[in-house]
Parts: sequence; C-alpha cells; structure tokens
Amino acid sequence: MAKLSPILKQATPVVVDHGEGVYLYDVDGRRHLDFTAGIGVTSTGHCHPRVVAAAQEQVGKLIHGQYTTVMHQPLLQLTERLSEVLPSGLDSLFFANSGSEAVEAALRLARQATGRPNIVVFQGSFHGRTVAAASLTTSGTRFSAGISPLMSGVHVAPFPFAYHYGWDEKTATEFALRELDYLFATQTAPGETAAFFIEPMLGEGGYVPANPEFLAGLRRRADEHGILLVVDEIQTGFGRTGKFWGHQHFDVRPDVVLIAKGLASGFPLSGIAASEELMAKAWPGSQGGTYGGNAVACAAAVATLDVIRDENLVENAAERGRQLIEGVRAIGEKSGAVGDVRGLGLLVGTEFTTADGKPDTATAQAAQKAAAERGLLLLTCGAYSNVVRMIPPLVVTAEQIDEALDIWGDVVASVTK
Ligand code: PMP
Repeated sequence: MAKLSPILKQATPVVVDHGEGVYLYDVDGRRHLDFTAGIGVTSTGHCHPRVVAAAQEQVGKLIHGQYTTVMHQPLLQLTERLSEVLPSGLDSLFFANSGSEAVEAALRLARQATGRPNIVVFQGSFHGRTVAAASLTTSGTRFSAGISPLMSGVHVAPFPFAYHYGWDEKTATEFALRELDYLFATQTAPGETAAFFIEPMLGEGGYVPANPEFLAGLRRRADEHGILLVVDEIQTGFGRTGKFWGHQHFDVRPDVVLIAKGLASGFPLSGIAASEELMAKAWPGSQGGTYGGNAVACAAAVATLDVIRDENLVENAAERGRQLIEGVRAIGEKSGAVGDVRGLGLLVGTEFTTADGKPDTATAQAAQKAAAERGLLLLTCGAYSNVVRMIPPLVVTAEQIDEALDIWGDVVASVTK
C-alpha cells in the first residue's frame, strides 16, 4: 500500500472527519478548537454555509474554464469585488493557485517591468517553497536545505525585529534602514534592484509586525530609485490582522499586493494586484497557468468576500484579536518563561525563551503538543520554531477565545513549571 511521504510530518495526530466554524471533528468524534485555520486560510470558519453553497452551485455549472482560453463569470465577479477592497490604483489582477506562485508572478513582473535583476528581501521572510520563492525566504535554513543553487540576485536586509536584537523599536528600525543603505552601497546598487519583497508582519519568521517608520523608509527608497514595493499579504490579508490589509496598519502604499490563503476559504486561489500600467509591462506568455483562477475557487472567493463584509469579520478580528493578545500576554507574564508575545489582530505569537534569553524550542513544542492533547490545535513558527502561534478563523467568538485561553493557561503552567 502506498503511504504518504514521511517528509510530511504532522504537527498533531488528528485525522479530521469534518469541520464546522472554529471546530474540527476527528474520525473518533472528538472536537478540536482549530487555532491554525489551515495556516491562516479558513478565515470564514470551516465550511461556512455561504461558501459551501456558492462552490456547490458553481460545480454544477462550470468547474474549469481556462482563463487564457475562455473567460468565466466567477472570475469577472471576483475581479470586480476585489477592486472594492484593494488599495486604490491597484486595479489589475492576475490569478494563480498558491502563495508561492503569486510570489513568482510578482518576481517575473518586477524583473520584466524594471529590467533589473536583483530583489531585496528582509531577514525572517517567508515567501514560499518553489525554488524561486524559497530563494526569497530567509526564515529558516530548512526551507531551502539541499536545493541549492538557489536563484541568484537575492539580497537580504535586516528586518526591525526589536526583541531579537534586544533593542527598542526605534533603534531596530534605524539599524535596519542604515543596513539597507549599506547593502545598496556594497551588494546591489539601487539601479540594479527591481523590488523589495516585504511581509507587513513576518509570518513564518515568528509573528513580528513591521512598523510605520520602517515601511515609510522603504517607500522613500522605492520612490527615489524606481524600485517596486511588493507587499506579501498572503498571510496578513483579508481581515486577518484586524484591518483589511496588514499594510494598512502602517499607512504605506504598495506597488504590488500578493494575495492567497484567506481569499477563498480553503479553495486553492492566489493572485497579484498592481496598477494596469505596471501589469502591462509583463511580457506576453510569461504569466499564466492551467488552473489559475479556477471557476469554483473564484465563486468561493466571491462568497468569502461577502461573508467577510456581511459578518463584519475585519472588526471581529480586531476585537477578538485584542482579547486574545491580552489574555496570552497575561498568561505569559504569569509564567515567567515567555520571552515575548507579539501580533496583529488574530495573528498572535508567544515566543518561548530560556532563563538566559535563548530560544526555547523544546518548551514551545511541548506546549503545542500539550495543547493538542487538550483539544486546542496550534502551530509553531520562527527560525527556531520556538514561537507558538494562534490563527483562529475570523468568525471566532469571545467565548471560544476564552475557551482557548483557559486551555493555554493550563498548558503554559504545565510546560514551564
Ligand atoms: N507568503 C507568505 C507570507 C506565506 O505565509 C506563505 C505560506 N505560509 C506563502 C507566501 C506561500 O504560500 P503557499 O504555501 O500557498 O505557496
């Protein structure tokens, strides 16, 4: 009998039968509070009835209508609906299936549009696992181990990760921008640099929000040198951070926005948004793919956007996010074994450190395991996998947050005593 590749290690032993809202039900009938949301995907909750109905209806009408061959209604509707929520001026869209493909599409566009070879990414970045996306990923050597040579032309500048440096936010930001200028002087001249790729908050890199001064510094340099600012909203978009887009916390204007995950409630769909003027600079034939903009995925995405709007999920993410981070912070302070608690909206990370301030991977993993045993599903992140992260669906209620905090309080007490 064929088996699943052993490389795909599961973070929990759960075999899911079905999902409903914030809960997953396993094949033995046990209920789990899902604070992973399929890694930030099922924002409308598992199997939201409106998303299910839209997908079911579309399956009976048209499953696949390859979008460079024929156009279909769900894609047109989705394009229209996205224009209501995208930053103004980003009125041209291209669709693919996964986050990594969106990253690659933006990479191709940036190089073709500017005629420049180099890309600057920031330490702790995660942009995916295809070879080019992995080349832009600096949140852990595990993501590119054994696949070198990676794509050339990638340069890494510091991210203002104040806790990691042991500095305040201002010092970390000044350092990061100074090092970026040094990078321009020593490795990639601005005129050779096509784009910055930046997450508004490092995701896989440990749940580290950027800040307005840093992003303003990038914008200034982008404007001065004709460099594109590509904002990867794959994990932070669609209300996840308590604003519709993560970058709205920092009041910065992106040239390109990357979307996936929360866009279609679990159907594989991703995309990039840019101005029509910029998008027109992509070379014919170089963008596209068989499955991009799948009709069922697009119908599910339209329903997802409706649910986000009609159920005020962005506001809910902001309110429940405040409740969650306050609760997690209080638990961390009580334990004394938590180095830092960070996040935006319903992206909350707890960084475990030893008494002498070193990353404590063992305790983070013990906490994740203990939580799963008590019916709370969580993931870790960060270069050392010592950050336990909470990413519940955006439909989560105050009672469900309390339920998770009760479990988390017991878990942290038990693994740090
Ligand atoms: N960018 C970011 C910010 C992500 O969080 C992820 C996925 N964790 C990706 C890109 C890659 O997406 P995918 O796994 O769909 O290729």
